[in-house]
Parts: sequence; C-alpha cells; structure tokens
Amino acid sequence: MSSRIETAPSCASAFEPGVLRVDEALADILSQIEPLTDAIKRPLRDCLGQVLAQSVISPINVPGHRNSAMDGYALRGADLPDDSIQSFEIVGTAMAGASFEGDCQAGQCVRIMTGAIMPEGTDTVVMQEQSERVDEATVRIGSGHKLGQNVRQAGEDIALGTTVFNPGRKITAADLGILASFGFAEVAVHRKIRVAFFSTGDELRSVGESLVEGEIYDSNRYTLYGMLQQLGVEILDMGVVPDQPERVKQAFEQAAAMADVVITSGGVSVGEADYIKPTLRELGEINFWKIAMKPGRPLTYGKLGKAHFFGLPGNPVAVMVTFLQFVKPALQQLSGAGVTASLRFKARACNAIRKRPGRMEFQRGIYSQADDGNLQVRLTGRQGSGILSSMSLANCFIVLPDEQADVAIGDEILVEPIL
Ligand code: AMP
Ligand code: MG
Repeated sequence: MSSRIETAPSCASAFEPGVLRVDEALADILSQIEPLTDAIKRPLRDCLGQVLAQSVISPINVPGHRNSAMDGYALRGADLPDDSIQSFEIVGTAMAGASFEGDCQAGQCVRIMTGAIMPEGTDTVVMQEQSERVDEATVRIGSGHKLGQNVRQAGEDIALGTTVFNPGRKITAADLGILASFGFAEVAVHRKIRVAFFSTGDELRSVGESLVEGEIYDSNRYTLYGMLQQLGVEILDMGVVPDQPERVKQAFEQAAAMADVVITSGGVSVGEADYIKPTLRELGEINFWKIAMKPGRPLTYGKLGKAHFFGLPGNPVAVMVTFLQFVKPALQQLSGAGVTASLRFKARACNAIRKRPGRMEFQRGIYSQADDGNLQVRLTGRQGSGILSSMSLANCFIVLPDEQADVAIGDEILVEPIL
C-alpha cells in the first residue's frame, strides 16, 4: 500500500489546474446567453423595472413653451434698472394654464405664476419676493437683476426629436415621469423572464412543516425568492425536491418546460446524494465548474432544452454569492438590459484578514465613513459559507482578488456594495 493518500482537488486547495477564475466562468456563461427579442406594449405603470424594447424619441418639446420658473413679474430685460429703483405698470396676469394674451410694452410688466407661458414681449421674470407692490397697477423693482433670469426655455429639459431612451433601458420611476410628460400611455417592453427554482436535499423541510432530528428548514428558497423579486422577474417556486434521481429528473423536466431559467441549490458537490450532475448529464448540455472562489466553488451552468440552468451550491452564503456574481448578470443579459458591471471601490480594512492567493474571496463586510471622511470596512464576523447571518449583517462584499494574500489593518481593499 502507498505510504500517502492520493487526495483530490477540493475547496481546501488553492492554485489547482482545471479550476476557472470567476471572470472566466462569467464570460463563458454570458457568451451563451442570447437576449430576449420579443416586445409587448404595456401600460406605463406596469413598465417600472421592465426592459424597454423600443427607442423613445421625444414627440414634443419639454417644456412645450417658454415659461416662468418663479411667481413674480414678467418684463422686458432691457427695462431693468442698473442702479436705481423703477416703477412698472402691471398690465395683466399670466397663470399656469391661462396665458396673458395681450402685449407687454416697455415700462410695463405682467404678474406671472410659476409655469405660466411668458407673455409676448417679455424675456425676464423678477421674483415676487424681490419686488415691492405699490398698488393694484404698480410694482417697484430695484437693481441686481439679470436679463433672461427665472425663465425656462421651450425644450430645455428635452428637445423635440431627441432620442431619450434606447432599447435595453431598465425603466425607472423618473423614466415613467418622462414618458408621461410625452403623453405616452404605453410603451413596448420585453416580457418578464420566468425563473423556476427548487432546493434539493433530503434534510430540507419547508416553513410550516415540523422538523425531526437532523432536518433543517429550507432557507435558500427564501433568499433566492428575495433576490429574484428585486430583479423584477416572474418567479416559479417549485419547493423542495428530495435526493432521489427520479424526483430530480422529474423536477428538471417540469421546470425546463415552463421557465426561461432554472435554478437549483444543493447537490452539486461530490457527496453521495449529489444527483444534480448525473441527472443533467442525462438530460441536457452541462458545464460543471470548479471555480477559484470562496464561497461557492462548485457551480453548474448549462442548458435544459431551451432553458438556461444554474446549479448553485447548497450552503446558504454560497447560494447568495454565486447568484449575485453569476446568475444576476446572466438574467440581466437575458432580459435585454445588458449587464451592469458591479460597482467596486476601495476602503481601508479595519480588520486583519487571512487570505490565501489562488482564489477570489467574497467576504462579508460593513463599509462606513471613518471620522477622517474616508471609507472603511470591517468584517461582519465569522465567515463560513453556512453563516447566513453574515449576509444579513453585511452591506457589502469585501472582494479579495485571486492574487491577494493576507490583508493587514489599514490596507486598502475592494468593496462591492450589496444592493
Ligand atoms: P449540499 O451542497 O447539498 O451538499 O449542501 C451543502 C450544505 O448546505 C448542507 O449543510 C445542506 O444542509 C445545506 N443546504 C442545502 N440546501 C439548503 C437549503 N435549501 N437551505 C438551507 N441549507 C441548505
Ligand atoms: Mg444536499
């Protein structure tokens, strides 16, 4: 018998051949995802968070007319006194929605409200607070004003014919307002992506059931639900599937028939009850990757019929990390919105952090502003991939790149806010 044990590569070893870097795995996944091309007209209010499937070109000037930015008096800028006080005759009133139709001559002014169209002949508004009303027909105005002040030009927000949005735009609350300001009641968006997911594991029970010794509640379906909900996709929760090859196969077939994307958690390691891989090999086109990352080393991506398949690890933190690093960009790409690169910036480490080069780590941190105004970040505490409370406490990942070794207190490290 040999005097040493032949070990297999595992999550305990760094720098091993055949292991993909995080960026390589992501690039590989994204290269296999074609964005949705369908388009459906939807009423404006249903479009929040959805992906625009058309260009939007402004059919009008916004604002439509030159109008006052203040309550006050509209007059000719050329009449403004340089260093004296001047009386102006008030010849009428302009309200928002009810213009002054007459003419405003030299030495005259029009009482004007915010949003009212600028009367013919006027180009300047003096604020009410900076004037002195003498009687019904007279106001006194001093020096210090500028020709053209307090006037909004037609089209100064958005000019007629401007391309305001391109296809792929994820519609925000401000966008809804802009679309409404054009008078649009509906726009074309892509349909929502349908995502089916289930958990695998004989030990898992759903909330509402009771536990016997050795069983745990399925929490992954809830973190996945939360993250998917935030992405605005349609969610199909398929519950818990036990570690039985037939049941796993049945669940895959059912999920692939109704969803664009299928996500599972658990059962992708090398344990005896890990049936995800063999089942997928039988049913679809699959990549099994060991990724140089912690947590989240084993990851499966492939196709199940037309559906994209992600087999995430079972550990609760690994599920969230792999979802955010791989599945979220994949869903963004599929939705037609394009991938938004995650914001990463530097902060000063408040803790010493142990880190072995050779893999990318996503430790959980809390970033904040230090007394000197700079950003700092501290660990949430214990970092095991089963410590879900570390995700709950965190407002960011501390992203430690592959080549990074131990971090000393005060070192600059990368922070990625968890949004
Ligand atoms: P597995 O990848 O199936 O070997 O699971 C790894 C670890 O994650 C085990 O401790 C599982 O009990 C745990 N786990 C797997 N799925 C879930 C889940 N849905 N909710 C909570 N813990 C889970
Ligand atoms: Mg399992």
